[in-house]
Amino acid sequence: MTKQENANLYALLSRRFKERRDTVAIESPGGKRLNYADVERESARFANRLLALGARPGDRVAVQVDKSPEALCLYLGCVRAGLIYLPLNTGYPARELEHFFGDAKPRIVVCRPQDLDLVADLADQCGVDAVLTLGKAGDGSLMELPDPGDEFDTVVSRDEDIAAILYTSGTTGKPKGAALSHGNLGSNAVTLHETWGFCESDVLLHALPLFHTHGLFVACHCSLLNATPMLLLPKFDPDQVMDLLPRSSVFMGVPTFYTRLLANADFGRAQCANMRLFVSGSAPLLEQTHSDFFERTGHTILERYGMTECGMSTSNPLDGQRKAGTVGLPLAGVSLRIVDDGGSPVATGEIGQIEFKGPNVFKGYWRMPEKTAEEFSEDGYFRSGDLGMLDEDGYVSIVGRDKDLIITGGYNVYPKEVELCIDQLDGISESAVIGVPDPDFGERVTAVVVAQANESNEEAIITALRPLLAAYKLPKSVCFVDELPRNAMGKVQKNILRDRFTRP
Ligand code: AMP
Repeated sequence: MTKQENANLYALLSRRFKERRDTVAIESPGGKRLNYADVERESARFANRLLALGARPGDRVAVQVDKSPEALCLYLGCVRAGLIYLPLNTGYPARELEHFFGDAKPRIVVCRPQDLDLVADLADQCGVDAVLTLGKAGDGSLMELPDPGDEFDTVVSRDEDIAAILYTSGTTGKPKGAALSHGNLGSNAVTLHETWGFCESDVLLHALPLFHTHGLFVACHCSLLNATPMLLLPKFDPDQVMDLLPRSSVFMGVPTFYTRLLANADFGRAQCANMRLFVSGSAPLLEQTHSDFFERTGHTILERYGMTECGMSTSNPLDGQRKAGTVGLPLAGVSLRIVDDGGSPVATGEIGQIEFKGPNVFKGYWRMPEKTAEEFSEDGYFRSGDLGMLDEDGYVSIVGRDKDLIITGGYNVYPKEVELCIDQLDGISESAVIGVPDPDFGERVTAVVVAQANESNEEAIITALRPLLAAYKLPKSVCFVDELPRNAMGKVQKNILRDRFTRP
């Protein structure tokens, strides 16, 4: 195999690093800067260290660390060395780590210094060879290992070799490891880089976590492929984002980032004058947020849709209409269809399950061939589990997860439709509609509402909804909460609401 044929993702991402050696690659708020030559060196050091510890291509390296430039270089080092990177949310408690270690059987685990003892115990029970941290000397750090040199020949990988395993949230059952290949990640990176028009003058403001598709792959890959700077924030902080937007041109966020920015009366055109693109995804962006953001900043947020198993699959266009409430059009190379329960395509405007096929679609769930097979149609389409519809221009709207679908008295109720109606009522901030078990209806439509004003009450909401929705879609009860429970990616955790509002 010649060098050009190396499908290793790092070989692709780093193709412009040499000519941009002195360009800042990663800048963190403390003023720490790595240029592209540093990224090459640091990732080489990590690759050398991991191999020196005995890891070999195909071995898993589980990483549960805080977001930092080093963490990103560690990711790149794993990829270069042909190791399978397994990022873990720092919020996972020990009980969950046990599942990941037991399932993925990592050879090496890298964790935070404060978690070292606990993680080492668990890892020991699961046969992990080495547990290290990304901390300072004295912290059991990877950095303490003898300097192995900053040269490394990127391992030759095939397109189908696995580069990363990401455990997907799976609100029911145990999380499953989605195995993504060098080819999956590389093709999606190239498509997004092209679709979103990345250019020489771009600076990415990065406020997403590095353990999820959105922050690790979508955001970092676009910036690295472009070989331009990213401002890497340890976490999303609206004030910090407002300070740094004037130096940035691209920002990617989950909807909550946008609502939090809008909650600050000082946020507006002044901070966004230099911006070229705001991208939103991972959870539905309310049409209200879309229009409020436009009014306040003059920018139309570009919403896209994807999932751990497939990277990104659709995007609103860079040039052309960005339709609020839709996730845009299938990306180049992605074939998308919406099917009924029998697997036949539904008509425009009708709801069905979204399926897709393309180079972005993962290789399967880690060591779960049967589960993987269940998720694909006979002709090779991945069943996303999302319900959606196409409009006459081919734009996709997401209606909800199929497991969120409420079946009440034999009728299907799509929570999103009810939520949209509730959200437009005066005095309502947002809502989540769930089904709770009911002896009579099977499931009872229940609205969980965050209200701005105290005068909102159950009866007033149901009365206001009556002219908007068929009777079977009306919530039978309305519960008020101060805020909706969300995970780190801004997704409303409906499973928590279902548990909480299910009467014993
Ligand atoms: P994850 O695997 O954690 O990235 O979650 C993927 C799921 O998030 C998808 O299957 C959708 O249900 C949801 N999702 C992602 N992007 C959007 C979006 N723009 N609008 C609505 N739901 C989204």
